[in-house]
Amino acid sequence: MLLALRCIVCGREYAPTYKLTCDVCGPANGILDAVYDYEKARRTLTKEALTSRPMNHWRYREVLPLAHNDHIPPLHVGWTPIYDAARLAKHVGVARLWLKDDGRNPTASFKDRASSMGVAKALEFGFHTVACASTGNAASSLAGFAAAAGLRSFIFVPQRAPEPKVAQLLLFGATVLRVQGTYDEAYDLCSAAVERFGWYNRNCAINSYLVEGKKTAGLEIGEQLASNPPDWVVVSVGDGCTIAGVWKGLREMHALGILERLPRLLGVQAEGSPAVARQFEQGEDAPFAKGEAHTVADSICVAVPRNWRKAVRAVKESHGAYVTVSDEEILEALRYTPRLTGVFGEPAAVASVAGVAKARQQNIIDPKESVLVIITGNGLKDIRTAINVAGSTHDIPPTIDAVAEVVEKSLTAEKTCNA
Ligand SMILES: *Cc1c(COP(=O)(O)O)cnc(C)c1O
Repeated sequence: MLLALRCIVCGREYAPTYKLTCDVCGPANGILDAVYDYEKARRTLTKEALTSRPMNHWRYREVLPLAHNDHIPPLHVGWTPIYDAARLAKHVGVARLWLKDDGRNPTASFKDRASSMGVAKALEFGFHTVACASTGNAASSLAGFAAAAGLRSFIFVPQRAPEPKVAQLLLFGATVLRVQGTYDEAYDLCSAAVERFGWYNRNCAINSYLVEGKKTAGLEIGEQLASNPPDWVVVSVGDGCTIAGVWKGLREMHALGILERLPRLLGVQAEGSPAVARQFEQGEDAPFAKGEAHTVADSICVAVPRNWRKAVRAVKESHGAYVTVSDEEILEALRYTPRLTGVFGEPAAVASVAGVAKARQQNIIDPKESVLVIITGNGLKDIRTAINVAGSTHDIPPTIDAVAEVVEKSLTAEKTCNA
């Protein structure tokens, strides 16, 4: 049961209504965090009880912020599979590597965990219109869940949002405002519009209910790998809500006695968008340095991360680390991850695989350790980047001789590779 919303800076508590940030600490710092009655949750949220619950992310109701189940949107969210990826483990140099494929959510990204919660809460609070600013995935996700629930949606995207994501949200019936500027400018404009028009604000960083949705990935990992947890959980980081949510879920499963040991967190950022990693190095109390953001991984291209404090704290609490990866390393991972696993992630998703390779090189992760990487978005989300690194087809006339020629060539190439 949800008890209160607590400011992460001053600790002041608020009743769990539609409340975004702390009145005293302000919207830039005073992010709220949902607090539950864990004593009560422990009595009914057990391993045994879970066996008979629906295979989706609503199965953890004791630690979710819903007043009741009436407004749960109909699309299936969560309980995504975890794959043991032995060849990828070998390639990046760790003992064991699991992929949790969150690209299998209904709009094909991790963001569905948050949007489903956002829409459920918007309905609970009686809103008819929802809004968000997004680099793309949160947008298409919110639009999808709004469509499923019959809500109107206004979506603010930056100029450079990939086309498939824009197509998705237009098809879901959203009103799309493509802002001639960066994600950070789209974000500020959306905040102003929400205020002016009285919409429900789905922006994760300041809407603590959304992070409760992201938390369910951590809850699932805690249940799926309960007695055999990985040494590390690896998450790519933009605003920082995802990694903070995952950590909260892992911690809760540990506190409930279901997850036997807490993993460490590896946060992965792009070299061209390193604001959270830099803040982690400098410490939570250092003045926040505003920067630029450029990376091929559009979903983590964020100059002003809105949830850096939670993201820095989560990694610190877990005795984890941050690494940054170059666009070349991300593109390389975009090429080798699908080939070695059959799982096709978008650039921001495979950035976390590149992060594992990087953390191995820097000896942050030991070769004897195990890691779980969350694939946060499906590869079809950014097809242009994928095509750029995919290699090319063999264009042939419709004759068997032409086929034979290609077969011979590829066998020779394989032999040379293996030699
Ligand atoms: C949003 C997103 C992230 C990062 O989440 P943050 O909460 O912004 O840190 C990572 N990967 C993908 C595919 C995303 O859409």
